[in-house]
Amino acid sequence: MSNRGFPVVISSPSGGGKTTIAGALLAALPFLRKSRSTTTRQPRPGERPGVDYEFVTGEVFEQRKAAGAFAEWASVHGHGYGTPREYVDETCSAGHCPLLVIDIQGGRAVRRAYPAALLVFLMPPSLDEVARRLGARRSEPDARLEARLGNAPGEIAAGLEYDYIVMNASIELAIEQVRQVLLRERETRS
Ligand code: 5GP
Repeated sequence: MSNRGFPVVISSPSGGGKTTIAGALLAALPFLRKSRSTTTRQPRPGERPGVDYEFVTGEVFEQRKAAGAFAEWASVHGHGYGTPREYVDETCSAGHCPLLVIDIQGGRAVRRAYPAALLVFLMPPSLDEVARRLGARRSEPDARLEARLGNAPGEIAAGLEYDYIVMNASIELAIEQVRQVLLRERETRS
């Protein structure tokens, strides 16, 4: 019988729907806690500093990295992203599961730092669909969209290392499937 929580990682290629799915899971599962990453990229319209991300300069990011403040960090599309270690440790100690919506490099690092972590990969139905979803977001210049699209095949291949792969063709179905996985894992581990 363990009262400790375990980190839950959700990854997908950009435009894979992970933010929407994570939001629905947080509303549905009381043992989940939203993690807040630190990033060096600029806020997008509508993003709230301190809520969606902690936005910092490259210099501050490097200092924290050197001090070991991140449970994992990665450079994604030219920007630094990191998960505060203290947040993950405190959340698990309190018996909750921090939900980390991070890229696959981060997923691998979390697995190394926390062997009990549960990794879920959201598989987009096709690369065309990834392109369509990214195009619909239109928050970035074309070059950035191209970079995200270019990364997608490699990200999909790395998703095969995850504990669970959930097809995200219907968002409602994907939410329900991930919810069932997390409930079952939570139950068998406690
Ligand atoms: P975006 O800039 O679109 O919010 O995120 C870009 C990518 O960075 C996404 O794949 C997102 O999951 C990932 N990401 C966000 N926060 C973190 C983090 O703390 N660590 C890592 N490794 N990746 C992150």
